[in-house]
Amino acid sequence: MRLLCPKCESPLRVISTRQFSKEVKQLYADCQTMECGARSVFHVSFSHFTRPPESNYKAFMKDFINNLPDDEKQGLIDSLA
Ligand SMILES: [Zn+2]
Repeated sequence: MRLLCPKCESPLRVISTRQFSKEVKQLYADCQTMECGARSVFHVSFSHFTRPPESNYKAFMKDFINNLPDDEKQGLIDSLA
């Protein structure tokens, strides 16, 4: 992840981090431009999944297959063989 200084838009160097929770982390970062030298704080937080975790996917597929009528379930199994 590349962070830019909010003041001068130069690259920042992360100097420390602090984990607030499983989904929120705070980053302290220094501007690498001598003339600026600002230190900034950023929050990185989880938003949402764009692909569910594998365990959720397998559970979803298992429920989906188990809820198929028997003939469709057998047809699916036969098509995989
Ligand atoms: Zn700067």
